[in-house]
Amino acid sequence: MAEVLVYVDHVDGAVRKPTLELLTLARRIGDPVAVHLGPNAEEAAKVLGEHGATRVLSADAPEFGDYLVVPKVDALQAAYDAVSPAAVLVPSSAEGKEIAARLAVRIGSGIITDAVDLEAGDEGPVASQSVFAAAFTTKSRITRGTPVITVKPNSAAPEAAPAAGAVEALSVSFGEQATGTKVTSRAPRESTGRPELTEAAIVVSGGRGVNGAENFHVIESLADSLGAAVGASRAAVDAGWYPHSNQVGQTGKSVSPQLYIAAGISGAIQHRAGMQTSKTIVAINKDAEAPIFDLVDYGVVGDLFDVAPQLTEEVKTRKG
Ligand SMILES: Cc1cc2nc3c(=O)[nH]c(=O)nc-3n(C[C@H](O)[C@H](O)[C@H](O)COP(=O)(O)OP(=O)(O)OC[C@H]3O[C@@H](n4cnc5c(N)ncnc54)[C@H](O)[C@@H]3O)c2cc1C
Repeated sequence: MAEVLVYVDHVDGAVRKPTLELLTLARRIGDPVAVHLGPNAEEAAKVLGEHGATRVLSADAPEFGDYLVVPKVDALQAAYDAVSPAAVLVPSSAEGKEIAARLAVRIGSGIITDAVDLEAGDEGPVASQSVFAAAFTTKSRITRGTPVITVKPNSAAPEAAPAAGAVEALSVSFGEQATGTKVTSRAPRESTGRPELTEAAIVVSGGRGVNGAENFHVIESLADSLGAAVGASRAAVDAGWYPHSNQVGQTGKSVSPQLYIAAGISGAIQHRAGMQTSKTIVAINKDAEAPIFDLVDYGVVGDLFDVAPQLTEEVKTRKG
């Protein structure tokens, strides 16, 4: 069976969920071969193997941390040259998309970014994308070269499929461009303890209806009861009530969780663009005519300051 390269997103060897989703999708096309760059490949290989990686090509070098993306592109290209895969899959993060695009240019291939689904086809993998503010789903196939495809988080549920996951050293030589952009400092963001917005299975977002930064704890409490990430509409972000990094929408982040709860959000097209592909959508809004109710699975017409705390308590009670 043909092999499919899967670029591993990890933090010091802890594999992030979008990579496990990629392995699940990769198995539809061929045998997944993971490409792990950086430390702790052995630790990562256990998880990667459990999720179907037959091999884990591994390389570690200071260049991966000291310089922006190009060293990683050099390494992914080395893996490509070594494997001659049927496709290359990369998580759709900002960095992942840059790596994928650079690789595609180098190997003369077509690229599809932000796929939300992937299936095998007679003439190569077929990728689904959600376009025009999620109003349409398109299916595309790459017609030139080896398909390079980036896939959005939450596009598939990770499924265990034990495979060897044998670690093999990947030999990489860095090109001249690899050291073109040096990382000069790093400052970790203060952790909220909540999941990453774009990867979370549940997102609870607040909008202008939250009416002030001091009220966002209502949204946070509901999110914490569900183990969810917190999102915000642009109106809430522009008002300075919540950080820009939490904005959901056309000019914010795109999320596609299992459950999206919008509280005090009207449902403007630009907000919908970032959340419309969520599997189940719930809205709490005191205006029964709010456009958000056109796309919800469950809607509550009511004041979020009444509804959200009750929901939080109910979730806590049921969780025991
Ligand atoms: C180029 C461009 C890009 C944009 N990008 C984005 C983007 O990425 N993300 C984004 O979100 N927006 C974006 N916008 C802005 C977008 O058009 C809307 O203005 C914005 O989404 C509105 O935010 P909102 O729903 O929180 O506020 P509003 O539209 O003011 O809605 C507030 C809602 O809260 C309800 N409400 C009020 N009080 C309560 C209460 N106590 N309980 C329950 N409900 C209550 C109201 O009934 C109302 O429906 C963009 C706009 C432009 C032009």
